[in-house]
Order: sequence, then C-alpha cells, then structure tokens
Amino acid sequence: MSETIFAKIIRKEIPASIVFENDDVLAFRDINPQAPTHILIIPKITEITKTTDISKENHSLLLGKLFEAANQIAKQEKIDEGGFRLVINCGPDAGQEVYHLHIHLLGGRKMNWPPG
Ligand code: AMP
Repeated sequence: MSETIFAKIIRKEIPASIVFENDDVLAFRDINPQAPTHILIIPKITEITKTTDISKENHSLLLGKLFEAANQIAKQEKIDEGGFRLVINCGPDAGQEVYHLHIHLLGGRKMNWPPG
C-alpha cells in the first residue's frame, strides 16, 4: 500500500493542527470537520492500514494508547462529560478514504443514530 498523507503529517512534512502527541500516538484536527470537535487519532507506525490489520500479538498495547489518548483529548476539548463519538471506518463500504488506521473523535453537538 502506498504512503498516505498521514505519514507526511507524522513526519511534519505537511502542516496539521496537532492537539496531542506522544511517542506512539498523534492527534490533529480533521481538515473537513463534521462536528464542532473533530479530531483524528492515529498511531505513528504506518503498518496498520485498517482495523483488519490489527492483531492481538502486535497491537494490544498500542490500541490501549490510542483510546487513552482519545479520553485525554476529550477532556482537553471539554466534551468528556457531555459525551462524544469514536468512529473507525474500515474499507470502502464504510467510506474509508485514508488507509492509515485512525479514530475519529467527534463531539460538541448532539449526534444522530443510526449513522448514515
Ligand atoms: P476516513 O474517511 O475514515 O478515511 O477519514 C479520513 C479523514 O481524513 C477525513 O475525515 C478527511 O477530512 C481527513 N483528512 C484528509 N486529509 C487531511 C489532512 N491533511 N489533515 C487533516 N485531516 C485530513
């Protein structure tokens, strides 16, 4: 799979509005926000293109770090108490556009269910 735009954001080759970073995880504001808060949380490793690449042996710890980051960012954004939605699109039917695992953190407005 060819390199994605997120790999360039990780290397700081293209700008992004970064809201969180540690050794394993990077989070930045979505360029086309679907809610008042719309942040993408990504692993810095590029080997996981979509959820079906995830294995318990290789990625358990990393997944915990992604969700821990999501909780911390939700607090930073002051949407932790009102609630928020975490979304991972996997594959074409889900509308995945960028093939580098990412969690959408959406909040700041009332969400509908079922999603479109
Ligand atoms: P998905 O459809 O789940 O693959 O989501 C990809 C997301 O990446 C979309 O919500 C895009 O708006 C977002 N996106 C694409 N390029 C950028 C970028 N350069 N900076 C921030 N967000 C981006």
